[in-house]
Amino acid sequence: MQAVTFQGPGEVLVQEVPDPEIGHPQDALVRVEVSGICGSDLHIYHGRTPVERGFTIGHEFVGTVLAVGDDVDRAAVGDRVLGCFHSACGTCVACVRGDYHRCLRGRTFGHGANLGNLPGAQAEQLLVPNANLTLRRVPEGMSADIALFAGDVMGTGYHAISHAGTRAGDTVAVLGLGPVGLCAVQAARASGAVQVFAIDTVAERLSMAGTFGATPIHLTEEDPKRVVRAATDGLGVDVVVDAVGDPGPLGLAVSLARDAGTISGIGAYAGRAEIPLGLAWLKGLTIRTGLANVIAHVDRVLAMMSAGLLDPGPLVSRHMSLEDAAEAYAVYDRREALKIVLTP
Ligand code: ZN
Ligand code: ZN
Repeated sequence: MQAVTFQGPGEVLVQEVPDPEIGHPQDALVRVEVSGICGSDLHIYHGRTPVERGFTIGHEFVGTVLAVGDDVDRAAVGDRVLGCFHSACGTCVACVRGDYHRCLRGRTFGHGANLGNLPGAQAEQLLVPNANLTLRRVPEGMSADIALFAGDVMGTGYHAISHAGTRAGDTVAVLGLGPVGLCAVQAARASGAVQVFAIDTVAERLSMAGTFGATPIHLTEEDPKRVVRAATDGLGVDVVVDAVGDPGPLGLAVSLARDAGTISGIGAYAGRAEIPLGLAWLKGLTIRTGLANVIAHVDRVLAMMSAGLLDPGPLVSRHMSLEDAAEAYAVYDRREALKIVLTP
């Protein structure tokens, strides 16, 4: 079959690889209908996330079940399904707690040997381990483009809001309006936030956040702290989502949060960073971080997307053929699209 493989920094290749086969009773084999290119694929593309040369990449997919192992009973041959971006075993100490994102045997699609050696979804077919947990049926009438978001980007935006304990009536600020930040804006509104401040420097992303019901604030042309304070009686917001994953925005997040507010850091942090910890302490802030627990949220996210409360449709800016993956990665790398959907 045809698959997109990592070749080296800035280089992916569409090449022939062996068809996957069921190897475990909990496996399912899926014919891919669409796969997404995501920000974390760019980390691989740039060589920041180490992946072996020739490894099939991609972790967002919708498709049709071609075969299932004997122990798969939540998906059947012919079902149209979407996947979460990683698998979880369901029985380890983390899974039993519901922390599927910290599964001791979890494997991430398309991220090489370091993250479970699980070939990716930018291919014609895909082997899905622990299919009972990893797959969900696509709700009746939902397009592939929309369903694609449930197991990764929208699940992550939703996690940023729910992990912060956001309640109806809260005020929220979202720093960084990439796909996850824009989904967090929608999730905040859908969770009953009365005012959502959306902060970025890119005009199109600010105006899209505006169409989602947020108050857009330009990071450098305006003074986010002053705008947020003025709109919240000088208090600051209940919840700040950092969807950038960088120490700079984290400092701004501390200044935007109200006393005893919460910061939800959903951007991928790396290494060490300096943050105004004294101010965070004085304000009594709760800071929550980590990878999104998408398996825990996927049914709720699908239900909200089905009901139209969450709609990632406007984020899909381009459809391209799997054959054109090299060009698609170059386009995505130039930030010319929020989401590229590949069709084999
Ligand atoms: Zn992704
Ligand atoms: Zn587990």
